[in-house]
Amino acid sequence: MSEVFLYDSKPFSKDNLNVWIAFPSVSNLGMSALGFLTVFEMMDKDENINAERIFTDTTTTKIDSRKVDLLGFSFSFELDFLGIFKILEKFHIPFNSKDREEGCPLIYSGGPVVSSNPEPFAQIFDFIELGDAENKSKEITDAIRLNKGKPRKEVLEILSKINGVYVPSLTKFDPEKGMLTLDGKPYTVRKSTDSLCGICVTTPILTENSYFKNTFIIEVARGCPQRCGFCNTSFLNSPYRTCDKNLIISKIDKALNYTHKIAFLGAAVGAHPDIDELCDYIYKKSEEFPDIELSVSSLRADGVSNSVARTLVKCGQKHATLALEAGSDKLRRVINKNITNELFKNTVQKLREIGFKGVKIYGMIGLPTETQDDIQALVNFAKELKAENKGFDISFGFSSFVPKSHTPFQFCEKENTKSLEKKFDFLQKEMRKIGVKISISPVKWDYVQAVLSRGGRELFDFLVEVYNNGGNIGAFKSVMKDFVKQKIITDFDKIAYSKRDYDEINPWDFIIQKNSKEDIIKECKRNLSRNS
Ligand code: SF4
Repeated sequence: MSEVFLYDSKPFSKDNLNVWIAFPSVSNLGMSALGFLTVFEMMDKDENINAERIFTDTTTTKIDSRKVDLLGFSFSFELDFLGIFKILEKFHIPFNSKDREEGCPLIYSGGPVVSSNPEPFAQIFDFIELGDAENKSKEITDAIRLNKGKPRKEVLEILSKINGVYVPSLTKFDPEKGMLTLDGKPYTVRKSTDSLCGICVTTPILTENSYFKNTFIIEVARGCPQRCGFCNTSFLNSPYRTCDKNLIISKIDKALNYTHKIAFLGAAVGAHPDIDELCDYIYKKSEEFPDIELSVSSLRADGVSNSVARTLVKCGQKHATLALEAGSDKLRRVINKNITNELFKNTVQKLREIGFKGVKIYGMIGLPTETQDDIQALVNFAKELKAENKGFDISFGFSSFVPKSHTPFQFCEKENTKSLEKKFDFLQKEMRKIGVKISISPVKWDYVQAVLSRGGRELFDFLVEVYNNGGNIGAFKSVMKDFVKQKIITDFDKIAYSKRDYDEINPWDFIIQKNSKEDIIKECKRNLSRNS
């Protein structure tokens, strides 16, 4: 695989700590994952570490598997557990931390899934890194290196003292009292949040073997200031932080020595206070380098300025993606997405006038308080938009609402699969009538996601069984049936669908985030009260 390293990678040394940084999918996807590559880069630059990347399709390794001290996984999506099991199995590492003996590498994980609700996966890991990794990774690897040779339990106890490190085996969950230490005291851990002061995370290795081939990705912002009630990205990465404009510009200049494909990454790129200046800078550069391509990971209808739009068009973008979420202004107020149909239409018109060829619009159904009128409103809105933008390629993509831990809507009920499928059938039929293409994310997978998002440690054996049965939707269904029949887990629907009381103890309550449980309760009540 041909790769260009944009930093100085150092040679291995026999006395170093041997670390595998693993991505739970194929290398092509892993090489486009900025968080995974950044952790690898930090380790690879450390003169005390031999770092190697591992993927599910890795066939040979530079470090002998018997000599690995630490194996870290990037965990971004709930279903990544399948890739994690695949890698553990490939290297004969027990799935459950309690079955690992001395000499087995320490297995850890970081990423949004485990920072939000690690509990269904807790037994897999010897320890979990909660939150941002930039300021913590070195402290962790130094602690492991300096205590190499000590019994693993002792090393884990040392690691548990580091801010933002959670060692599941040193805790137990009590449904009445919440998370406890092994001697029965209440246990909490604070997720770490780094300031982006002086930090601008960018692609460290360019390669053709990446989903985004030879693309230099720049994380311009972390989090999102908008606080939509269902949005894990916003609440988990709170507060919204942006990278310094001059630092970003220096990264753009560096990138242009190697590639002309640049991507701005962030859940709210358009909210960066200097986004217009940054786009103008790239626009000017495109006179010198006419083949510059710029893409952005997200646009918000109220954050597309003329500078942003004209630069994207000049730099090769033909289609924009915008999130509408709901069809009515009222439902958008409930979810705290404060854009109106009017504003959305103006943005689409602007994109068309500036030279975009089309727009893909994302919507979500099954949102709290939604009625059939809100579904009809989506159809009406699509109809109006199409009539006002003849010849413009307008398509819709829909998913269904999944209550996510640490968001205001974690307490809300999830609509059942049958009823969601009915709504999707309606949308499909009505959108076809008006000639609008739509794509729909499979509702059955959203159900699985809901189970994994709000479940607890009781799910571990279930996950192992699902993996052993092939990990497809059929395996989830049949293992669920089996577990219910055997009374191992009696009610998956309760985990996925149920409304949660504000004072109910949840498996993830022990993780202290920037927004406290009290904060999100208030926000949930305020959002739902806008249903009029
Ligand atoms: S605008 Fe998008 S990223 Fe921001 S809070 Fe809403 S859904 Fe999340």
